[in-house]
Amino acid sequence: MQLSNYHSHCTFCDGRSTPEDFIKFAVSHSFRAYGFSSHSPLPFETFWNMSKDDMPEYLMEIERLKKKYAGQLEIYVGLEIDYLDETYNASIPYFRELPLDYRIGSIHFLPIALPLEEENMVCIDGSFSDYKDSVEKYYGADIRKLVAHYFSSTLKMIEAGGIDIVGHMDKIYMNGHKCEGFSLDADWYRKPLNDCLELIAEKGLMVEVNTKNLLKKQQIYPHINYLSRLRELNIPVMVNSDCHYPDLVNDGRTEAFELLKQTGFKTTRELINGKWEDVGITN
Ligand SMILES: [Zn+2]
Ligand SMILES: [Zn+2]
Repeated sequence: MQLSNYHSHCTFCDGRSTPEDFIKFAVSHSFRAYGFSSHSPLPFETFWNMSKDDMPEYLMEIERLKKKYAGQLEIYVGLEIDYLDETYNASIPYFRELPLDYRIGSIHFLPIALPLEEENMVCIDGSFSDYKDSVEKYYGADIRKLVAHYFSSTLKMIEAGGIDIVGHMDKIYMNGHKCEGFSLDADWYRKPLNDCLELIAEKGLMVEVNTKNLLKKQQIYPHINYLSRLRELNIPVMVNSDCHYPDLVNDGRTEAFELLKQTGFKTTRELINGKWEDVGITN
């Protein structure tokens, strides 16, 4: 089992500790590689996204840590970049020109109107009560319409490019499964998700197995039912904890590797000396 994590947050966004605190945890638990993926700047301010002004300091601080811990831990700098729409996503020059080791593409917001301001966004990653209110207000109380919107944005994100890894690709079910009429097996859910997976495979992107809610809510993204489809499509995966606290760096890793093994995965894709390589899953 690889001791690596490429999806993590720190005080540059909504993580609860400094980058070095996460590094200390990773070193003390014998990690091989650790990557930061702060929430990217957006056209509007939120309490969990980085501000553009902090970008130079973020890059410098991770660079400092790379040097300080050289020989003990491979440290990488990435970003978790929001796909908002065709005009604001990882493919725009601002993100392409940043000196990053990798980019995770994720969807947290679905715009329901322009301009791209927070009041025009449906947040799919917040509380259930806000989510439910949005389904009622913007989707005629029909969860199928929100799911369709989410996967159509996901498909556009994959098409737009500028990313290496698709982040928590079906997090829509975190709150969605509590809504009336939701089904993981219905055609209206399965088909658009499968379309996204096929496009991911065609584009040669990676998908993370996100363990943030594995122990807390018994949820993994992608959902356990869909891991076998990733396997069939030969989509490379890695296990990421999406941690916001240092003591959660390793949360759910053993369990996720067990699920991958049961599904028939033989390798995870790992950054080794700056290059993505397939590494065998052993014991
Ligand atoms: Zn996220
Ligand atoms: Zn995250």
